[in-house]
Amino acid sequence: MSLLKISNLDASHGLLKAVSNFSLTIEDGEKIALVGANGAGKTTLLRTLAGVHPVAGGKIEFEGRDISSLEAHKRSSSGLALVPEGRRLFTSMTVAENLLIAKSASRNGAWNFDTVLDALPQLKEKLNAPAGTLSGGQQQAVAIGRALMTNPKILLLAEVSLGLSPLAVQFVYDSLAKLFQSKTALVLVEQDLKRAMLVADRIVCMLEGKIVAIGNAGEMSREEILGHYFGHSG
Ligand code: ATP
Repeated sequence: MSLLKISNLDASHGLLKAVSNFSLTIEDGEKIALVGANGAGKTTLLRTLAGVHPVAGGKIEFEGRDISSLEAHKRSSSGLALVPEGRRLFTSMTVAENLLIAKSASRNGAWNFDTVLDALPQLKEKLNAPAGTLSGGQQQAVAIGRALMTNPKILLLAEVSLGLSPLAVQFVYDSLAKLFQSKTALVLVEQDLKRAMLVADRIVCMLEGKIVAIGNAGEMSREEILGHYFGHSG
Protein backbone atom coordinates (compact mmCIF):
# COMPACT_ATOMS: atom_id res chain seq x y z
CA MET A 1 0.00 0.00 0.00
CA SER A 2 1.29 3.46 -0.86
CA LEU A 3 1.57 6.14 1.77
CA LEU A 4 -0.32 8.79 -0.18
CA LYS A 5 -2.35 8.18 -3.32
CA ILE A 6 -3.72 11.21 -5.11
CA SER A 7 -6.19 10.34 -7.87
CA ASN A 8 -7.59 12.80 -10.42
CA LEU A 9 -7.57 15.59 -7.86
CA ASP A 10 -9.21 18.95 -8.67
CA ALA A 11 -9.09 22.10 -6.53
CA SER A 12 -10.50 25.49 -7.45
CA HIS A 13 -10.48 29.17 -6.51
CA GLY A 14 -13.95 30.23 -7.61
CA LEU A 15 -14.15 29.47 -11.33
CA LEU A 16 -10.40 28.97 -11.65
CA LYS A 17 -9.24 25.37 -11.54
CA ALA A 18 -5.88 25.69 -9.77
CA VAL A 19 -5.28 21.91 -9.58
CA SER A 20 -6.66 19.81 -12.39
CA ASN A 21 -6.87 16.01 -12.71
CA PHE A 22 -3.71 15.61 -10.64
CA SER A 23 -2.61 12.03 -9.89
CA LEU A 24 0.49 10.99 -7.95
CA THR A 25 1.45 8.13 -5.65
CA ILE A 26 4.00 8.69 -2.88
CA GLU A 27 5.74 5.86 -1.04
CA ASP A 28 6.97 5.73 2.56
CA GLY A 29 9.99 7.95 3.11
CA GLU A 30 10.00 9.32 -0.43
CA LYS A 31 11.21 12.89 -0.96
CA ILE A 32 9.33 14.74 -3.71
CA ALA A 33 10.14 18.23 -4.98
CA LEU A 34 7.22 20.08 -6.52
CA VAL A 35 8.46 22.65 -9.01
CA GLY A 36 6.85 24.98 -11.53
CA ALA A 37 6.37 28.65 -12.31
CA ASN A 38 4.36 31.05 -10.16
CA GLY A 39 0.69 30.21 -10.28
CA ALA A 40 1.25 26.59 -11.39
CA GLY A 41 -0.89 25.35 -8.48
CA LYS A 42 1.77 24.03 -6.10
CA THR A 43 0.53 25.85 -3.00
CA THR A 44 -3.11 25.02 -3.71
CA LEU A 45 -2.17 21.35 -4.13
CA LEU A 46 -0.33 21.28 -0.79
CA ARG A 47 -3.18 23.06 1.01
CA THR A 48 -5.72 20.65 -0.52
CA LEU A 49 -3.69 17.63 0.59
CA ALA A 50 -3.52 19.07 4.11
CA GLY A 51 -7.28 19.71 4.21
CA VAL A 52 -7.15 23.50 4.50
CA HIS A 53 -8.49 23.90 0.95
CA PRO A 54 -11.47 21.84 -0.26
CA VAL A 55 -11.27 19.00 -2.76
CA ALA A 56 -13.38 19.84 -5.83
CA GLY A 57 -13.01 16.42 -7.45
CA GLY A 58 -11.02 13.20 -7.26
CA LYS A 59 -9.65 11.44 -4.22
CA ILE A 60 -6.82 11.56 -1.65
CA GLU A 61 -5.98 8.30 0.10
CA PHE A 62 -3.59 8.16 3.05
CA GLU A 63 -2.42 4.67 4.01
CA GLY A 64 -5.33 3.24 2.07
CA ARG A 65 -7.98 5.41 3.72
CA ASP A 66 -9.97 8.02 1.80
CA ILE A 67 -9.23 11.33 3.56
CA SER A 68 -10.65 13.63 0.86
CA SER A 69 -13.22 15.14 3.20
CA LEU A 70 -11.42 14.65 6.53
CA GLU A 71 -10.82 17.83 8.58
CA ALA A 72 -7.30 19.24 8.58
CA HIS A 73 -6.61 18.53 12.27
CA LYS A 74 -7.60 14.88 11.82
CA ARG A 75 -5.24 14.59 8.85
CA SER A 76 -2.41 16.02 10.91
CA SER A 77 -3.09 13.71 13.85
CA SER A 78 -3.05 10.74 11.49
CA GLY A 79 0.43 11.71 10.26
CA LEU A 80 0.15 14.28 7.49
CA ALA A 81 1.65 17.64 8.48
CA LEU A 82 1.78 20.94 6.62
CA VAL A 83 4.36 23.68 7.11
CA PRO A 84 2.42 26.55 5.54
CA GLU A 85 3.75 29.60 3.76
CA GLY A 86 4.36 32.44 6.16
CA ARG A 87 5.33 30.09 9.01
CA ARG A 88 2.48 31.12 11.37
CA LEU A 89 4.41 30.84 14.63
CA PHE A 90 3.19 32.07 18.00
CA THR A 91 5.59 34.99 17.93
CA SER A 92 5.33 36.03 21.58
CA MET A 93 5.85 32.48 22.82
CA THR A 94 9.33 31.05 23.15
CA VAL A 95 10.86 28.67 20.63
CA ALA A 96 10.54 25.83 23.15
CA GLU A 97 6.86 26.62 23.70
CA ASN A 98 6.24 26.71 19.96
CA LEU A 99 7.76 23.25 19.63
CA LEU A 100 6.09 21.76 22.68
CA ILE A 101 2.63 23.01 21.75
CA ALA A 102 2.63 20.58 18.81
CA LYS A 103 3.38 17.68 21.14
CA SER A 104 -0.25 17.44 22.24
CA ALA A 105 -1.19 16.50 18.67
CA SER A 106 1.69 14.09 18.43
CA ARG A 107 1.69 10.47 17.33
CA ASN A 108 4.36 8.09 18.58
CA GLY A 109 7.50 7.97 16.49
CA ALA A 110 11.11 8.98 16.07
CA TRP A 111 10.62 12.72 16.47
CA ASN A 112 10.51 14.26 19.95
CA PHE A 113 11.85 17.45 21.54
CA ASP A 114 15.40 16.04 21.67
CA THR A 115 15.55 14.51 18.20
CA VAL A 116 14.00 17.61 16.64
CA LEU A 117 16.67 19.75 18.31
CA ASP A 118 19.35 17.32 17.15
CA ALA A 119 18.04 17.76 13.62
CA LEU A 120 17.81 21.56 14.00
CA PRO A 121 20.76 22.23 16.34
CA GLN A 122 20.84 25.95 15.61
CA LEU A 123 17.64 26.29 17.64
CA LYS A 124 19.19 24.95 20.84
CA GLU A 125 20.58 28.30 21.92
CA LYS A 126 17.32 30.06 21.03
CA LEU A 127 14.94 27.89 23.07
CA ASN A 128 14.01 30.64 25.52
CA ALA A 129 13.79 33.46 22.98
CA PRO A 130 10.36 34.65 21.81
CA ALA A 131 9.91 33.17 18.31
CA GLY A 132 9.16 36.63 16.90
CA THR A 133 12.67 37.83 17.71
CA LEU A 134 14.34 35.18 15.54
CA SER A 135 15.59 35.76 12.00
CA GLY A 136 13.42 34.59 9.09
CA GLY A 137 15.54 31.49 8.53
CA GLN A 138 15.44 30.56 12.20
CA GLN A 139 11.66 31.06 12.29
CA GLN A 140 11.32 28.77 9.29
CA ALA A 141 13.37 26.15 11.16
CA VAL A 142 11.03 26.49 14.18
CA ALA A 143 7.99 26.02 11.91
CA ILE A 144 9.55 22.86 10.48
CA GLY A 145 10.50 21.64 13.95
CA ARG A 146 6.97 22.25 15.18
CA ALA A 147 5.56 20.13 12.34
CA LEU A 148 8.09 17.36 13.05
CA MET A 149 6.99 17.29 16.70
CA THR A 150 3.69 15.78 15.50
CA ASN A 151 5.68 12.81 14.13
CA PRO A 152 4.34 13.03 10.60
CA LYS A 153 4.68 10.16 8.15
CA ILE A 154 4.66 12.82 5.47
CA LEU A 155 5.59 16.47 5.74
CA LEU A 156 4.22 18.96 3.22
CA LEU A 157 6.62 21.85 3.07
CA ALA A 158 5.56 25.10 1.40
CA GLU A 159 8.22 27.19 -0.24
CA VAL A 160 10.88 27.69 2.44
CA SER A 161 12.71 30.41 0.55
CA LEU A 162 9.78 32.84 0.46
CA GLY A 163 10.84 36.21 1.86
CA LEU A 164 14.23 34.92 3.03
CA SER A 165 17.69 36.08 2.05
CA PRO A 166 19.89 33.58 0.18
CA LEU A 167 21.90 33.14 3.38
CA ALA A 168 18.76 32.36 5.38
CA VAL A 169 17.61 29.87 2.73
CA GLN A 170 20.98 28.15 2.99
CA PHE A 171 20.54 28.09 6.77
CA VAL A 172 17.16 26.38 6.42
CA TYR A 173 18.53 23.79 3.99
CA ASP A 174 21.53 23.12 6.23
CA SER A 175 19.03 22.58 9.04
CA LEU A 176 17.04 20.18 6.89
CA ALA A 177 19.91 17.80 6.14
CA LYS A 178 18.84 15.33 8.82
CA LEU A 179 15.23 15.50 7.70
CA PHE A 180 16.25 14.60 4.15
CA GLN A 181 18.03 11.51 5.50
CA SER A 182 15.13 10.51 7.77
CA LYS A 183 12.32 8.06 7.07
CA THR A 184 9.74 10.87 6.98
CA ALA A 185 8.29 11.34 3.49
CA LEU A 186 8.42 14.87 2.16
CA VAL A 187 6.70 17.00 -0.46
CA LEU A 188 8.69 20.16 -0.87
CA VAL A 189 7.73 23.17 -2.97
CA GLU A 190 10.92 24.65 -4.33
CA GLN A 191 11.42 27.29 -7.02
CA ASP A 192 15.17 26.70 -7.10
CA LEU A 193 15.49 23.74 -9.44
CA LYS A 194 19.16 23.11 -8.67
CA ARG A 195 18.39 22.79 -4.99
CA ALA A 196 15.31 20.64 -5.64
CA MET A 197 17.37 18.22 -7.73
CA LEU A 198 19.96 17.93 -4.97
CA VAL A 199 17.58 16.94 -2.18
CA ALA A 200 14.65 15.11 -3.81
CA ASP A 201 14.22 11.53 -5.02
CA ARG A 202 11.64 12.60 -7.58
CA ILE A 203 10.81 15.86 -9.29
CA VAL A 204 7.23 16.72 -10.19
CA CYS A 205 6.85 19.74 -12.46
CA MET A 206 3.45 21.46 -12.57
CA LEU A 207 1.97 23.82 -15.11
CA GLU A 208 -1.57 25.20 -14.97
CA GLY A 209 -2.58 22.72 -12.25
CA LYS A 210 -1.33 19.63 -14.06
CA ILE A 211 1.79 17.48 -13.99
CA VAL A 212 3.82 18.23 -17.12
CA ALA A 213 6.98 16.31 -16.17
CA ILE A 214 7.84 13.73 -13.56
CA GLY A 215 10.91 11.60 -12.99
CA ASN A 216 13.77 10.55 -10.74
CA ALA A 217 15.90 13.54 -9.83
CA GLY A 218 19.06 11.79 -11.01
CA GLU A 219 17.62 10.96 -14.40
CA MET A 220 16.24 14.36 -15.43
CA SER A 221 18.30 17.26 -16.71
CA ARG A 222 17.79 20.81 -15.57
CA GLU A 223 17.19 21.88 -19.17
CA GLU A 224 14.56 19.19 -19.63
CA ILE A 225 12.62 20.31 -16.54
CA LEU A 226 13.01 24.02 -17.33
CA GLY A 227 11.60 23.32 -20.79
CA HIS A 228 8.39 22.21 -19.10
CA TYR A 229 8.19 25.19 -16.72
CA PHE A 230 6.38 27.47 -19.12
CA GLY A 231 5.12 24.82 -21.51
CA HIS A 232 7.88 25.33 -24.06
CA SER A 233 8.94 21.73 -24.21
CA GLY A 234 8.37 19.84 -27.48
P1 ATP B 1 3.20 30.56 -6.28
O1 ATP B 1 4.58 30.00 -6.28
O2 ATP B 1 3.11 31.89 -6.95
O3 ATP B 1 2.49 30.52 -4.94
P2 ATP B 1 1.78 28.20 -7.01
O4 ATP B 1 2.32 27.24 -8.01
O5 ATP B 1 1.88 27.83 -5.59
O6 ATP B 1 2.38 29.61 -7.27
P3 ATP B 1 -0.98 28.69 -6.48
O7 ATP B 1 -0.64 29.72 -5.47
O8 ATP B 1 -1.54 27.40 -6.01
O9 ATP B 1 0.26 28.38 -7.41
O10 ATP B 1 -1.99 29.33 -7.52
C1 ATP B 1 -2.61 28.60 -8.55
C2 ATP B 1 -3.62 29.49 -9.24
O11 ATP B 1 -4.66 29.82 -8.32
C3 ATP B 1 -3.05 30.82 -9.72
O12 ATP B 1 -3.66 31.15 -10.94
C4 ATP B 1 -3.45 31.80 -8.64
O13 ATP B 1 -3.62 33.10 -9.16
C5 ATP B 1 -4.78 31.24 -8.17
N1 ATP B 1 -5.02 31.51 -6.75
C6 ATP B 1 -4.22 31.14 -5.72
N2 ATP B 1 -4.75 31.52 -4.54
C7 ATP B 1 -5.91 32.15 -4.82
C8 ATP B 1 -6.93 32.77 -4.04
N3 ATP B 1 -6.84 32.82 -2.72
N4 ATP B 1 -7.97 33.31 -4.69
C9 ATP B 1 -8.08 33.26 -6.04
N5 ATP B 1 -7.16 32.68 -6.83
C10 ATP B 1 -6.08 32.14 -6.25
